[in-house]
Amino acid sequence: MKNSVHIALAGNPNSGKTTLFNALTGARQHVGNYPGVTVEKKTGICRHSNVEVIVTDLPGTYSLTAYSVEELVARNFLVNEKPDLVVNIVDASNLERNLYLTCQFMELGVPVIIALNMIDVAHSRGIEVNVDRLSELMRAPVVPIVARSGKGIEQLLDEVVRVGRDRKKIWQPLSLSYGEDIDQLLGEMVPLINEGKLLTDTYPARWTGLKILENDDQILDMAMRADSTLAQSLVQKSDQVTRHLQTTMEAYPEAIIADHRYGYIKSILRQGVMAQRYNVDRLYTSDRIDKIVTNRFLGPLIMAGVLFGLYSFTFHYSTIPAAWLEAFFGFLADTADRSLPDGPVKSMIISGVIDGVGGVLGFVPIIMFMFFGIAMLEDSGYLARVAFMLDRIFRIFGLHGSSVMPFIVSGGIAGGCAVPGVMATRTLRSPKERMATLLTVPYMNCGAKLPVMALLIGAFFSSHQARYMFLATVVSWSVALLAAKFFRSTVLRGPATPFVMELPPYRFPTFRGLLIHTWERTWQYIKKAGTVILGISILLWAMMTYPGMPGEESLGFERQRQEVLAGLPAETVAELTDDKVERPAGTEEIYRRLIAIDNEEAEQALRHSLAGRIGIALESISRYAGFDWRTNIALVGGFAAKEVIVSTLGTAYSLGSVDPEASTSLRERLARDGAWNPVVALAALAFIMFYAPCFVTVVCIAREAGNWKWALFSMAFNTVFAFLLAALIYQVGMVLYMG
Ligand code: GDP
Ligand code: MG
Repeated sequence: MKNSVHIALAGNPNSGKTTLFNALTGARQHVGNYPGVTVEKKTGICRHSNVEVIVTDLPGTYSLTAYSVEELVARNFLVNEKPDLVVNIVDASNLERNLYLTCQFMELGVPVIIALNMIDVAHSRGIEVNVDRLSELMRAPVVPIVARSGKGIEQLLDEVVRVGRDRKKIWQPLSLSYGEDIDQLLGEMVPLINEGKLLTDTYPARWTGLKILENDDQILDMAMRADSTLAQSLVQKSDQVTRHLQTTMEAYPEAIIADHRYGYIKSILRQGVMAQRYNVDRLYTSDRIDKIVTNRFLGPLIMAGVLFGLYSFTFHYSTIPAAWLEAFFGFLADTADRSLPDGPVKSMIISGVIDGVGGVLGFVPIIMFMFFGIAMLEDSGYLARVAFMLDRIFRIFGLHGSSVMPFIVSGGIAGGCAVPGVMATRTLRSPKERMATLLTVPYMNCGAKLPVMALLIGAFFSSHQARYMFLATVVSWSVALLAAKFFRSTVLRGPATPFVMELPPYRFPTFRGLLIHTWERTWQYIKKAGTVILGISILLWAMMTYPGMPGEESLGFERQRQEVLAGLPAETVAELTDDKVERPAGTEEIYRRLIAIDNEEAEQALRHSLAGRIGIALESISRYAGFDWRTNIALVGGFAAKEVIVSTLGTAYSLGSVDPEASTSLRERLARDGAWNPVVALAALAFIMFYAPCFVTVVCIAREAGNWKWALFSMAFNTVFAFLLAALIYQVGMVLYMG
């Protein structure tokens, strides 16, 4: 007898999967990525009656088709890793919809235990589920649970151990009827597939046939590679039936298959599984809330209010811990300054490591508060309403309702990432709508742009932080939608496709759930700062330091210093040049001149460096938008990763100005610097929001689009567009600002 059972936790989004996973595994979880995609894979272990239960959390899905990454990941995991069983978490208050996925697990053949969750919610709505009857008809064990309170978890584990122990070695796929035409076709295909051993190691023959009929890219690909003649003849057969179905029923096979699955579920539910205690027409609380919240007129107002509230909350409360962090990094820099000997190592540690990474980590509080707010919207179910309302607007601009999620994931509310956003476009089936979404999601304010925006807004518009941040979000959406409209009426012209969306019921988020969501995302940001950003930051520091000034020029600065100090008593000179002792009285003027020379020297050194030369070369163009050469260095660095803009500005401005009052924050330095003013800040904000996506995003776009053409297009188009916009703001702004 094996002493461990490997289970895969699967279910629809919002069915309580994460809650159950946490309840089962506690904090002992391992997070990794599924190979090849950036969908997170969580694995945890728990012990139950001396059996080790290994739990893998599959991504939440409604289906096992190949339309989205999550779906592909879920089914690839099942067929490749062959877990002992699937614990399928099912929302009892939404049984029909949830059993659709269950049905597909059974068609695939994997042993299933149904964890019937949210029975408390179902109960409060007057729905009673007859567990034994459901189990009998579905031919699978059913365990009622309340994941949130932990009720029923023990019984679920008992069942897992019991089924895991006497599981059968072979999977037993469920054969559903999909109507005469399809059943007949499958009847012909299955023997051929079995004889030719086409993918039979991985999939049941009937499943493969069904997927060929559904035009499933992944299965078609695999089949073609395994046996192209057989695959082709199967495709031919299925095409024939598809055409026949279209003429007779005016429907695609997928739709007919789905209809039959729902029919199967309905028939089960009707046989005494569900009893509704009171009138179905009664409005549930969620529906009542929705009447107001998604109202045509009130809805958008409430949405704007909620989002603005989110920004106010974030910026108001994050300033306190942000100040602590700022003080901490200032203290680190001071300590390093005092205790390390002068030289390249000290310069690297202070300018490269502490200022660079400190600049990035300094934004952790803002990001944490922002993520906390977003987790609240997401967990309560409001985020889906936002998507629902925006869908109406999206159609006007030639996008699809399914584009909403990629936009939100990319930072539509601020603080996402375009990389998963780009991947989330896989749910879009129309290639043109998908391309238009791919090209415009990088305009959102991703988590990496947030710190730069917070920095510039904090430095120049500090009295209206939340308002400016909110405005930036509105602008990013407007630009994205207009650009989409532009693409859809030029290079990506084509018809719109229809869209249906379900709204999950409202729920009170749990504090624990909110903390876990917030921490997961914040930790990703911190990890990135500790690795990628640290590396790039040191590289950029080196580019900003070497090859350095020619010897005679630094001698020139030394001579200037001698001149200033000439004629003073040796003791005073020693005191003036040593940071560690008090400056003698009456030497303020001399000290000021010394600092000016130091500043001049540091700036000259930066100009001579590799990065400085690049920045200066770009100045001939960038001056039309008001960017000086130091800003150029940061913007070029930002292509590697947008977070780097802050760290590079930090490095550039700490190399370039030796400040009399030891530690001033970068924000204060920029606010005081002659090259910056509010107009330049606005132009820089516009440029940063819209110029080329970061390197990783560009690679992902190329991969998703299937070629580099669109990825390069997006780099070039965005950079040119962003620059024109920044130049316009600068030119007009300067006239107004000066006048
Ligand atoms: P996931 O999307 O499937 O991972 O779902 P989550 O675990 O994030 O749960 C979605 C929401 O449902 C959260 O707010 C949970 O607190 C809540 N939830 C989960 N299980 C239950 C339950 O049994 N009863 C109730 N009332 N709420 C639950
Ligand atoms: Mg979850």
